[in-house]
Amino acid sequence: MKYIAEEILKPVKNIAGGINLPHFKNTADSVATPLPDPKTVVMPLKQHIGAALEPTVAVTDKVFVGTLIADSESPMSAPLHSSVSGTVKEITEVKMPSGEKVKAIVIESDGSATQAEPNIPTINSAEDIVKAARNAGLVGLGGAGFPTHIKLAPAVNDNIDTLIINAAECEPYITSDYRTCMDDYDDVFDGIYLLKKYFNFKNIIIAVEADKPLAIRKLCDIASDRQDTINAVKVMKLKKTYPQGAEKFLVYTTTGKMIPPGKLPSDVGCVVMNITSIAALNRYIRTGMPLVSKRITVDGNGITNPQNLIVPIGTPIINVLEFCGYNENLTKILYGGPMMGLAVSDITSPVLKQNNAILALCENQNVKSTPCIKCGRCLRHCPVNLTPAFVNAALKRQDNEKLAVLNINQCIECGSCAYVCPASIPLTQVMRTAKSILRRNSNVK
Ligand code: SF4
Ligand code: SF4
Repeated sequence: MKYIAEEILKPVKNIAGGINLPHFKNTADSVATPLPDPKTVVMPLKQHIGAALEPTVAVTDKVFVGTLIADSESPMSAPLHSSVSGTVKEITEVKMPSGEKVKAIVIESDGSATQAEPNIPTINSAEDIVKAARNAGLVGLGGAGFPTHIKLAPAVNDNIDTLIINAAECEPYITSDYRTCMDDYDDVFDGIYLLKKYFNFKNIIIAVEADKPLAIRKLCDIASDRQDTINAVKVMKLKKTYPQGAEKFLVYTTTGKMIPPGKLPSDVGCVVMNITSIAALNRYIRTGMPLVSKRITVDGNGITNPQNLIVPIGTPIINVLEFCGYNENLTKILYGGPMMGLAVSDITSPVLKQNNAILALCENQNVKSTPCIKCGRCLRHCPVNLTPAFVNAALKRQDNEKLAVLNINQCIECGSCAYVCPASIPLTQVMRTAKSILRRNSNVK
């Protein structure tokens, strides 16, 4: 049985605001090439939202691909495994893109890529899957880095009946999730059916933006070939709007449910998983190999040969740039896409678990901001109805009372306001600064 067009779901709701971006998906046809192991990998001990890890290895220890090298007793954490075989050379400190300094384990590769003894988990319950997600060191691979086992845990007992698989990939350039749809569909669907077997998911929706018709077709064909009797897995074609893939909006567009401020998808009966995360979970359950490498898109006008690569986690970015070729006059390197990506200040910084792209750009550095012309575009395009122009004005006046009533903490730093501003005011940075002032003020009280 093949899907007919009517069986592709339409969004229940559409997000207000947002923007229509050029997609620049130059690497869509690039099947990922494995990057050769670098001489050394640098493994920061905090590649997730939550507590930093502590090393479980010491300098001079021998490790293999998949050896546990760091863990934490805090539930809000994800263990870390070596991505190469070799020797622990150093335990040092590195600066993360957020500015935070964290411990890092530096491993010298022996070039043999010898794998650790696989530890294939036995799955007989939802709890076993949650445990497997943690043991695999899995985090949200779409960029967020939220530990996967924490996402899944409420669904073990609670009344959570909807699993949303996020394949929106709405940022320009990035095609790593697209390649998961096209190349790793067996792991995606085996993972989905495994979750369906042990959790209470009645509705399973794979959400893809309309600009990926081949992925929609592929997923529909596989879904229809592998239908269960209650026809549970559906593919939804989302309108192409940025930032559609943000968790809060995805829940709204796929189910019509609004997540209240400060709450999670589980509070409205949903779990949202990135499509590459579900494939990685199934791969771990199938092979026992934890998360040690990532598919990343390498693109931008500073890259000679844009492409998708499979990269050992911890690989220095310079190795990635040298493999793809790059312009010596780069002005900006980003972890992630042009809208929400974080600037990399040092080209020896490592590729992290949650990275899905490295973007290298040569940009005009002479763009100057001009005064606000009160056009209102930033207000109209903000998907969470904030007022960036007012925040900018209050910040300039140092009016902290006004800042406190502008709902600044709802900002998801999507960059839509800065993108549409004709005065080139760096509004995303304005929102970040305002947030940190509010945080500081609330700590002082
Ligand atoms: S960065 Fe924040 S304020 Fe600007 S559009 Fe996005 S959510 Fe709204
Ligand atoms: S988009 Fe820019 S110029 Fe227009 S109101 Fe907002 S801050 Fe002012």
